[in-house]
Amino acid sequence: MMNITSWLGARSSVGTFVGGIHPPEEKELAADAAIEVLPSPREVRISLLQHLGAMCQATVKPRQEVQVGDVIGRSDAFVAAPVHASIAGVAQRESVATLPNGRHVPVIPIKAAAEQEFRGSALLADIYGGPWPVDEAQRLDPKDIVQAAREGGLVGLGGAAFPTHVKLVRNDKFPIDTVIMNGCECEPYLTADDRVMFEFPEPVIAGTLLSMQAVGAQRALVCIEENKPRAIESLRSAARGTAVQVVVLKTKYPQGGERQLVLAATGRTVPGGGLPFQVGVVVVNVATAAALARSALRGKPLTHRVVTVSGAGIRQPKNVLTPLGTTYGELIRYCGGVTGNATRVVAGGPMMGFTLSSADEKSELIPTPVTKGTSGITVLIDRDVQRAGQTACIRCGRCVQVCPMRLVPTRLALAARAQHREVMERYHIGACVECGCCAFTCPASIPLVQLIRVGKVMIQNMDKRS
Ligand code: SF4
Ligand code: SF4
Repeated sequence: MMNITSWLGARSSVGTFVGGIHPPEEKELAADAAIEVLPSPREVRISLLQHLGAMCQATVKPRQEVQVGDVIGRSDAFVAAPVHASIAGVAQRESVATLPNGRHVPVIPIKAAAEQEFRGSALLADIYGGPWPVDEAQRLDPKDIVQAAREGGLVGLGGAAFPTHVKLVRNDKFPIDTVIMNGCECEPYLTADDRVMFEFPEPVIAGTLLSMQAVGAQRALVCIEENKPRAIESLRSAARGTAVQVVVLKTKYPQGGERQLVLAATGRTVPGGGLPFQVGVVVVNVATAAALARSALRGKPLTHRVVTVSGAGIRQPKNVLTPLGTTYGELIRYCGGVTGNATRVVAGGPMMGFTLSSADEKSELIPTPVTKGTSGITVLIDRDVQRAGQTACIRCGRCVQVCPMRLVPTRLALAARAQHREVMERYHIGACVECGCCAFTCPASIPLVQLIRVGKVMIQNMDKRS
């Protein structure tokens, strides 16, 4: 079988990537909704695991008073990110929450104090308001920027939640010449990054320059899909006079996948199973860049994020600046609750998100906490989820055509069903990025991604046992 790296490289060109799909974008539901600030919740539940890597341990005791930004959990592991109080109040006894991926994690509940320092527009200004001195950004010591990312608890806010300081630390073996800011936000419905870029481009540009300074890159490309013209204009204006270039890419799912993005923007192919730094590139999400600016230039950690609450099943789609640890139920209630024909609540977008529950009046009680990687909550209606019943594979090959990783999804799904490890590995199951293109396009309604996910978990469990 052909090596996956050479296959990807051989069939691709700059400006786009091979495969991918054009699902209905559905961005119009929330794209015009300016970022609103959620009124301070009475309680938040802050997960001690909000990143890829080692779990944090609590550093506060029950009944201890905390202020916004106080560290409440940390780990000494390199691949980890501390967590901070997102509201002022009193820490409660540790409890457990179930994250959208089904993982049970410890959480620190914080009951809110009567008075919060910042609310409403003052909070928005504190997080995104200027000035953002770009000269200062370019004078900072790279090590201090990495340290600020680490102490600020920064992770990829696009959903991957990989600790940012790990990406920004210099590696002599793999020098970085290009920083890519990922502003693609290719998942249907989600508009949080679009609004941050449009409304607050200055901290995004400052964070981009800080990222360049940290890794020693000569250029930075802010990559945005062409379906976000206001954000493109806003960032171009903010980037004027700096070394940051705004690059407009085709609107195509999954353009925001790191591998697809690196290829589309630079023409370089990330090796199969490898990471962008191996081809001299670091990819950072645009909202993460804004958080980096705040952390490095103002010493303030990541305590809030913008969450899109959208879908035909939500009464008032919005983009909401939300304290981490707020429950999904509280956000759904703030957005007017679900409609009568709402069917399903999804954490994230419909392509890569996890279905949380069916949608009904109880959705306003969903206790799942918002974490750093929560880019959106999508509430779907009957029409969105109606699919024909599953039938046998008709060997049409559509799943192969759209797979951006050039895999053979039908083979992988069959092997996963049969629990056949050797076949799954022979067909590179580990390279699947779970983008969902194959399942979206399958006329037989075969749940290809779910089967592949199950196959991956099966292999992980086998490895743990051996
Ligand atoms: S989910 Fe995996 S197999 Fe399916 S299209 Fe995406 S990368 Fe390919
Ligand atoms: S798209 Fe579906 S029906 Fe067509 S080959 Fe793939 S699994 Fe089979």
